[in-house]
Amino acid sequence: MSAALEINGNSQQGNAWKADFPALVSIDGMALHYLDNAATTQKPVAVIEAMKQSIESGQGSVHRGLYPLAESASLAYEAARNTIAGFIGAPHSDQLIFTRSATESINMVAWGWLQPRLKPADRVWVTRMEHHANFLPWQRVCAQTGAELRIIELNENGSLDFEGADELFDPRTGLIALCHVSNVLGIENPVRTICERAASVGIPVLVDAAQSVSHMPVDVTALGCDFLAFSAHKLYGPAGIGVLFGKKHCLEAMEPLLVGGGMVDRVDDATAQWAPVPARFEAGSPNLLGAVGFAAAVDWLSAVGMDKVNTRVSALTRKAVDALASVPGLQLLPGAGAERSAIVSFVLEGIHPHDIAQVAGERGVALRAGHHCCQPLLHHLGLTATARASLGIYNDDADIAALVDAIQEAKRLFS
Ligand code: PMP
Repeated sequence: MSAALEINGNSQQGNAWKADFPALVSIDGMALHYLDNAATTQKPVAVIEAMKQSIESGQGSVHRGLYPLAESASLAYEAARNTIAGFIGAPHSDQLIFTRSATESINMVAWGWLQPRLKPADRVWVTRMEHHANFLPWQRVCAQTGAELRIIELNENGSLDFEGADELFDPRTGLIALCHVSNVLGIENPVRTICERAASVGIPVLVDAAQSVSHMPVDVTALGCDFLAFSAHKLYGPAGIGVLFGKKHCLEAMEPLLVGGGMVDRVDDATAQWAPVPARFEAGSPNLLGAVGFAAAVDWLSAVGMDKVNTRVSALTRKAVDALASVPGLQLLPGAGAERSAIVSFVLEGIHPHDIAQVAGERGVALRAGHHCCQPLLHHLGLTATARASLGIYNDDADIAALVDAIQEAKRLFS
């Protein structure tokens, strides 16, 4: 563990955290106040070094060679699977499939699992706050099968309106797909309760954990979900790799989305027999480097401790909410008063979010502005765009102060 982490028991050590992330070290006095962690995160030295070392020690082809370099590649790849499975409490590492991203993981379930079993009278339920990645695959599968896409609407404070979704646990529900934490509102949904209720009537649940797994302990066994998806790049790991967790019986009943090398046991001119899970879902040469970086990120977070990460990011989020709430004319999106996780979206009277983000960017404050791939939610709120600050483990009071200064500057320039 790096020196920065050894001293981080002291919550005042904001800069010590940043020191572990080369991209955040100020160059020529220009600090980067990186507040776009919900989009992607910076990488700690441990991840960079693990990936560098993997390249330097030679890249063998995973599950495709018998020479030592290929064997060590296969071992490293499977060790990564094991590490990530352990991180989310999966009963067995075979229940963890490497994918390109959370998006690909969700599409795999939509096409490989749901589409073949969905009937025209069935319904798929999502929530009003879903990212397009957890909305469009279901919308498309429903359009193709004649099933209906139903939406759990939101209460005034942004929480899910279960009273308005009285048919959620109906026998016609083929699947419930929802985010653990919203990428716009930062609200944490009661996933465990939903899974428990759904399981009691045999309805499968897919959890989009893209915005939760980097900030809070996520345990698939405790949640009781049937599927769970997330990407490495929002978790201080590399881009281009994600995972899908599935219950054993679900994965065994799922068809592969991609077919090709490495996912098949026997092929003849007319037929093929798929390999067992998880190889069945990993057609093509595996992303060894991504898996190594992903596992290094998970090891790094585990060494810090997810409870500690959660405490730190929650405290920073509360500070950001308080600081933003005190800016005249600034309106926080629903979720105000609720415990948000790492994400604070807002609009500023009379100033377009893109203008705020641009002014902020010029001052070294990285913010996101737009619809955040959540158009059904934004339409519902009567908005086309918001500004969004999203926090990570390395953020500190200085970042929040820089954010508020940037907003004041935008107000000065545009009002
Ligand atoms: N779900 C949520 C809630 C997200 O925020 C995102 C990314 N913004 C995704 C899914 C998709 O993740 P990826 O782009 O890594 O596939």
